[in-house]
Amino acid sequence: MQFAAAAAAATTVEAAHALARRPVSAQFSVPGAVDHHAGRVIRSVLNEWGSVDLRSEAHSVLTAAGLRHDAIGVDRETNFALLARVAATDAAADLPVVYIGGTQAISGGIYDHHLINHGALGLAGEIGHMIIDPGGRPCWCGRRGCVETRIGLLALYAAATGHPEPPFDQLFTDSADLLTAIRDLASTGDERAHSALPGPATGRASLSMQSRRS
Ligand SMILES: [Zn+2]
Repeated sequence: MQFAAAAAAATTVEAAHALARRPVSAQFSVPGAVDHHAGRVIRSVLNEWGSVDLRSEAHSVLTAAGLRHDAIGVDRETNFALLARVAATDAAADLPVVYIGGTQAISGGIYDHHLINHGALGLAGEIGHMIIDPGGRPCWCGRRGCVETRIGLLALYAAATGHPEPPFDQLFTDSADLLTAIRDLASTGDERAHSALPGPATGRASLSMQSRRS
């Protein structure tokens, strides 16, 4: 399974060649914990990956395209989303940005001094499976009491609708429908749905914050 991303990149490179373009790098966006220096996926529950040396595996596929090993990047998808948000909103370059988002799983990222802050272990912002209640409800990652069990999409759906929490695989197949159901219910003024949401019901599952250094 871990070769799927590299194979997709190879297809993209072929398309670039067909357009007489020369690929200069390939960047892999992965949901989960990533050591971006090493180009290694530490764990991606949504992909059902354990440790994967994605850069090396991609390099073996992309060598024919002329890409060097150091031209292949791997990072958490939330960090790419954060960069896109910074670019789209023209977030002042001198302001640090903390981004919390996710359509399938809760995650976050930190942008400061014109760079992504990956933290000492490369996991800065990876908050979805941070345990906030050791005796709490089981999480789909296999542990208990993660942030996901409180504000993840499955938990939010159950709290907003009063229905049982959907099974894990609906994160793959029905995340958009679950979000729509929550938004629609909230838009009717449903008290339960409103009380389940952390703020005004906007129908969005992401939140970005900017703060100025004091
Ligand atoms: Zn978890």
